[in-house]
Parts: sequence; structure tokens; C-alpha cells
Amino acid sequence: MTENKILQTDRDLLWHPYTSMINPLPVYEVVGASGVRLELKDGRQLIDGMSSWWAAIHGYNHPVLNQAAHQQIDAFSHVMFGGITHRPAAELGRLLVEITPRGLKQVFLADSGSVSVEVAIKMAIQYWFALGRPEKNRMLTIRQGYHGDTTGAMSVCDPVTGMHGIFTGILPKQLFADAPAIPFGETFREEDIQSMKTLLADHHHEIAAVILEPIVQGAGGMRFYSPEYLKRVRELCDQYDVLLICDEIATGFGRTGTLFACDHAGITPDILCLGKAITGGYMTLGATLTTRKISHTISNKGKSVFMHGPTFMGNPLACAVALASIRLLLESPWQETVARMETQMKKELAPCRDLPQVKAVRVLGAIGVVEMKKPVNMGEIQKRFVKKGVWVRPFGKLVYIMPPYIISPEDLSVLTRALFEVVSQEP
Ligand SMILES: *Cc1c(COP(=O)(O)O)cnc(C)c1O
Repeated sequence: MTENKILQTDRDLLWHPYTSMINPLPVYEVVGASGVRLELKDGRQLIDGMSSWWAAIHGYNHPVLNQAAHQQIDAFSHVMFGGITHRPAAELGRLLVEITPRGLKQVFLADSGSVSVEVAIKMAIQYWFALGRPEKNRMLTIRQGYHGDTTGAMSVCDPVTGMHGIFTGILPKQLFADAPAIPFGETFREEDIQSMKTLLADHHHEIAAVILEPIVQGAGGMRFYSPEYLKRVRELCDQYDVLLICDEIATGFGRTGTLFACDHAGITPDILCLGKAITGGYMTLGATLTTRKISHTISNKGKSVFMHGPTFMGNPLACAVALASIRLLLESPWQETVARMETQMKKELAPCRDLPQVKAVRVLGAIGVVEMKKPVNMGEIQKRFVKKGVWVRPFGKLVYIMPPYIISPEDLSVLTRALFEVVSQEP
């Protein structure tokens, strides 16, 4: 296929994330990706500011990850997980238990982030069912959250900004507390947790779990909130006999400056969801971790089994690359790297605050966010970023970057400068 044919075929046939088939946004053909650079068909190189949606923390085409993938392909790429096990799954399971917050001992290897959320919700419901309390089957979450696009996950996304309004009628009716208002780094006040407290006090008898993104609310608004809030939620869940599910699909593996965002608050959730960066962006994989108490309670009820088992569960290729990616991260000075990125982005994005188009600028770990006063025109703004040699994909009022950790200070400066210049040209 010639270049024009590829773009034309794409336009005719292929659905992209959240796009129209009549008025699609422009797409760019990538022919290569290496380090922090995406190579376009016309030879242009773009510095990647997105890590392919939080995932490619080591950049692209990494020799260590390539080798892990090659080795596993030469052994076997996939076998069913029903009645079969293999070294990549066992070693990954062991490593995940070692590095995640203390007390999480059981691992369900799902096939994507959204599925790991579905699995978490089902675990919570099955736990209370096994204890003879089937009426505890609702979820309580916070507004401005995002947990994925599958049906169960949609039900706990923000009901207004959560992109899923059309489906309200078929979704389970969950409970929504106000989003935490006190930003990360500011002094916590008890009033911030009031809405959560009231809902728990009034509804705990029908709530299976609180589900939230710890510290960073991602696709629902790119907001960073106080670790004290998370600590209080943990205490309230214990007080009211409600499980806590932390969705670390975006925040896991160092992005916020700690290995997991829960670590900012020093808490352990009852159930933890992982995805995105787990394979360094090479393949789709999710994981849901939980405690022995929950797994044993589910399993103890008669002959009870946990009711989930996807075809590609524990995919050996994904497990092998995940193992290599996490080891690579742990062997690297990731804490200093992410701290350095944070310092640099804080300094270089600060001038955006003075622009009349900008409402707020916030940086945490390797995440930099410029919140605009008005929604941007995505197609137009994307074009201007590409012209400046960077890959940044804003949504709504949010122009943000979360580059691969391997980015050099010079390349990061190119990104932050492009952000300032492009944002300053917005109407
Ligand atoms: C991306 C994301 C999901 C969904 O993961 P997918 O791999 O897209 O299914 C769920 N929760 C959070 C916090 C996410 O950022």
C-alpha cells in the first residue's frame, strides 16, 4: 500500500478512539519508534510526550524488552491458562506481590486495564456474597474518576464528564462522592472528606467497595489530590466494613514519584488494579491483586470459585515483557529520574501560568498538566504540536505530558517549550 492508500484505507475502515467515522480527526502514519521518538512516514521525528497513554515508560524499541519478547516468542507465545501454568506468569506474580503495597498476595492476570477493573468489582461483590451479604453489591466512587470503557468500569466513571452519558440507562446505579478538592501538597481539611463520609454512613450496608484512582485522577480531569484524603478513605472503609479498590492503572510503576501512588499515603487497598505501564507499553496486560483474606473468603463458600477467566489470561508473551520491564525499572535510578523530571517541568511549565488562556498548571512526578480556560480544538492543536516536532494529544481543556522516563533534559525542554508556545497561540 502506498502512503495515500494507507491513510485512505484508515479513513474508510478503521475506528480510532472516541472518533466519528464521518468527521474523523486527522491521523499520522508512524513507521518507526525508538527511544523517545516517533518516526512519521514523511521522515519527521516527533518527541513523544504521551508514553502512548502512560505506558511506554522506557521509550520505544528498547533492546532489553525486545530481547525478552524475542526469547518468549521462540519458546511459546501463548498457551491457555486453564489447567496450565508457566514461568513468566509465576515470576511476574511473585514480583508484583513483592513490590506492591504490603498484604496483597494474590494475583489475577487480566488482559487489559478495563478488564482488571471488572475483575476487581466482581471480586468485591463475590467477597460479600460469600459472607452471606449479597445486598452489599454497589460501588462508591469519587466524581471526576476514570476507570475504563467496559460496562462495569463505565458505571464508576464520572457520570457527567465520564464520556459515557449515553449508557446511563443500562449501567448499575453507583454512588458518587464529591471529588477531593484539596490539591496534592496543600494542607488537608476534614471537610474535604465529608461527602465520602456521609455516603458511607448512609449506605455502607449496600456498598461492596469504594473504588478510586489514588492521588491522581487521570482521564477524568488530571487532578492531583492530598494523600491525607486517601488515608482517611482507608480508615473510613475499615470503620464501615467496605472494601477499598485502588485503580493504579495510570499511576503504577513510578509515574507519580513513588512506585505506586498508594505509597504516598502508606496505605494498602484490599484490591489493586494495574495495567498500562506494566509491560512498558509493549503489549496489553492487566493485573488485579488482592489479599489472602478476600481470595480465601471467596473460595471458602461451598465449592465457590472466582467467576472470571479470559481467553488470553496470563499471556506468556505479555508476562515475559512485563517482567523485563519492571526489572529494568527497578534496576534504574527511577526515583531520581522522576524527581528530576518533576523539578524541570515545574520550572519550565510555570510561565504558562501567566498566559490569559490558562486556568492552572500542575506537575506531579513525571506528569505535567496545563489546564485551559476553554476546550481546545484537538485536530488543530495537534497539528501545531506536530509542526513543532512533538507528540502531545490534549483532550477537552487539558493539555498534558507524561513522557517516557528515558527522556533527556534537552528533549524534555523541547516538549515544555512547545507546550508553552502552542498554548499561547490558542484563541
Ligand atoms: C486507562 C485506564 C483504565 C482502562 O485501561 P484500558 O487498558 O484502556 O482498558 C482504567 N483506569 C485508569 C485509571 C486508566 O487510566
